[in-house]
Amino acid sequence: MPRTPLAAGNWKMHKTVEETLMLLDELVKQTEDVREAEILVCPPFTSIHAASKRLQGTHIQLGAQNVYWEAEGAFTGEVSAGMLAGLCTYVIVGHSERRALFGETDLTVNLRAKAVLAAGLRPIVCVGETLDENEANRTADVVSRQVRAGLEGIDRQKARELVIAYEPVWAIGTGRAATPEGANDVIEVIIRPALEYLFDRESAQAIRVLYGGSMKPSNAASFFAQPGIDGGLVGGASLDAADFAAIVAAAV
Ligand code: PEP
Repeated sequence: MPRTPLAAGNWKMHKTVEETLMLLDELVKQTEDVREAEILVCPPFTSIHAASKRLQGTHIQLGAQNVYWEAEGAFTGEVSAGMLAGLCTYVIVGHSERRALFGETDLTVNLRAKAVLAAGLRPIVCVGETLDENEANRTADVVSRQVRAGLEGIDRQKARELVIAYEPVWAIGTGRAATPEGANDVIEVIIRPALEYLFDRESAQAIRVLYGGSMKPSNAASFFAQPGIDGGLVGGASLDAADFAAIVAAAV
């Protein structure tokens, strides 16, 4: 079965509620003919409720950028998967900025991914090597460990709900994207075999794997032309309706 392309925008810590609604209205307009690709936006938590109302009845889906794994309790500042259920459909888990700046580990990625699935939502699990790891030829070790440890213990029945985003850390926000062939190799040689080890061959082939890292209108089509790349997780370029709409168009 062909995998439906997914174009996902990670807005990071950008946009007030008002700015969110303006960008969404523009994006709905600029992508109104697109039906062959899933379009997803992940604004900050403060915008999720308003965005979910504004996107009702449109073709654009909504995701969150993070989640905590406990259901409720004395966890000041955190948001649970149950609180997001009903508002959005996807949750980004283990973004490299969360790993580098907020102490995210493979274990906490695993707890978050399981909590997301238990709430009936779909995790987008981010993996990727740093520049030092890349230059030390450790990409295979690091990415394979992140996939295996991050997804360990997830029920095979739920495997197809997962999305993986391969985001080499050195390519995020730097303007220096990976080569499409290099990203495809990591996905086909490291990530899908790790998924097969965890689940089975059919699941590994069915799970969508995105590329992320300085994707823009000018390079998106070359990534989407790769057989193993099923879409993009887009940071900076998703903050501009015309740029993100052009990336969505390239995904179709
Ligand atoms: C990201 O935030 O996941 C990302 C890939 O950012 P950028 O597209 O800006 O490199």
